[in-house]
Amino acid sequence: MTKLKTLAALLAASVTLGNTALAADTELNLYTARHYQTDEALYSNFTARTGIKINRIEGKEEELLERIRNEGKNSPADVFITVDAARLAAADQYGIFADVDSPALKAAIPAHLHTNRWFAFSTRARVIVYNKLDVKADQVRNYEDLAKPELKGKVCTRSGNHPYNLSLGSALIQHIGAAKTEEWARGLVANFARAPKGGDTDQIKAVGAGECGVALVNSYYLARMFKSTKPEDQKAVERIGVVWPNQSSFGAHINISGGGMLKTAPHKEAAVKFLEYLASPEAQDYFANGNNEWPVVAGVKVSNRGLDAMGKNFKTDTLPVGKLADTVIEAQKIYDRAGFR
Ligand code: FE
Repeated sequence: MTKLKTLAALLAASVTLGNTALAADTELNLYTARHYQTDEALYSNFTARTGIKINRIEGKEEELLERIRNEGKNSPADVFITVDAARLAAADQYGIFADVDSPALKAAIPAHLHTNRWFAFSTRARVIVYNKLDVKADQVRNYEDLAKPELKGKVCTRSGNHPYNLSLGSALIQHIGAAKTEEWARGLVANFARAPKGGDTDQIKAVGAGECGVALVNSYYLARMFKSTKPEDQKAVERIGVVWPNQSSFGAHINISGGGMLKTAPHKEAAVKFLEYLASPEAQDYFANGNNEWPVVAGVKVSNRGLDAMGKNFKTDTLPVGKLADTVIEAQKIYDRAGFR
């Protein structure tokens, strides 16, 4: 009798386990525009904790989104990770993201850094760098200052069509209005030292070399330069100063790395687990530090000498990332009219 009972219990248990094993996801398909060395550790730790294997498809931001859209409802993608709030918002407008009802995620990530469907997992700031021999910090305290006539022939930036500049323009529209943003864009263009070219790192180098007096760059490129052991990089950063813009108004413009779960995800349970994992202190450290960004979760320590070199106490814009996308198209139109290409 006892034996029978035990057997029955064992059978019941194995049936339950069997069902669970069938229902539980054992893999996750991740489409990511991020490819950093430290992300490897991030993924293997997730697999070690959950037993869920990650199949990674890496690509450029726009290519991955295009791929997801082409694959349609047959897409194997569970989670899409990319950079820039405007890009994430565009992906959301295509309707690719599912609502994620995760109290854990919503509790961990500040309200202005997520929507119901996509979440920021790290932040970067768009800061001002200047050549210390050519420009004084007080001349460039605010984004608006870059349009002042006194900086004629000194301003450098990457293309106005790039999402980083479009997101900044979008934030400006919401803070100072469209008319003033257009005036600003025209002033900026009138101050160019050269036609926009290259990436943010090229602007930092050009400021270091004195070819440009001042430039707009993302904080993580700067942190990378501060940490670089190349003599030419060290020489360049010695010559530049960093300004956290708009400290007496809305704060430095913030952009993000982030992602969400796809509506068509074949492994939804694994997808939510992975997103929740990205908001854990351990993953936050890898995710943010790997690209010299800041974690989004409060209390996660930053130990990055590249970021520390830029100073620690600064005010950042708290404009919700979901709202940031609302005026991106308007920013593009303004830039087009102003000749910021
Ligand atoms: Fe970048």
